[in-house]
Amino acid sequence: MRELNLILTGPPGAGKGTQAQRLTKRAGVPQVSTGDMLREAVASGSELGRRVKGILEAGDLVSDEIVIELVKERLARPDAQSGFVLDGFPRTGEQARALDELLAAAGREPVRVVCLEVPEEELIRRIMSRAEGRSDDNEETVRNRLQIYQRDTRPMLEHYGEAVVRLPGTCTMDEIEASIRTALGIS
Ligand code: AMP
Repeated sequence: MRELNLILTGPPGAGKGTQAQRLTKRAGVPQVSTGDMLREAVASGSELGRRVKGILEAGDLVSDEIVIELVKERLARPDAQSGFVLDGFPRTGEQARALDELLAAAGREPVRVVCLEVPEEELIRRIMSRAEGRSDDNEETVRNRLQIYQRDTRPMLEHYGEAVVRLPGTCTMDEIEASIRTALGIS
């Protein structure tokens, strides 16, 4: 069977996390979220956590070096050998190049890329109304994260060029899931 090596991308608030969870359940591959891994590191008070705490609180990006190493270790684990859904990584051109290289070096299939598209005002509205109220979900931080997305994540999408499958992220969760599965050929 082909590996399901997927990057699920889109601006913060586009619904990547929800869709990643649904796809991983169906395909039996792990969701790999660098945001979750970094938040866990902060919560555990590890050395890494102490280094990245302020960066996460400001909504800035953690260095490429740190996140590339986290992802490299995670994708080498046994449960990721038949595929993975990356959520929140790569976020820069450098991260995308590193991912391509590490998959090629391991003789694995290249990634497929799905980008969920949602207009900016809708994103702000969604993030501000999130029930759990993440500590980095205030309006100033949200605007900063959207700006960073435009500035740093665009080169990542350009890196994959025509291979990026762009889908509207504005319909219902079920409809979005169906459109992703159709695009990827997952039953
Ligand atoms: P997320 O849950 O994906 O929105 O990530 C939360 C925060 O973790 C981001 O605002 C960044 O500070 C950091 N982060 C997560 N993934 C990355 C990444 N691929 N590169 C750099 N920083 C990241």
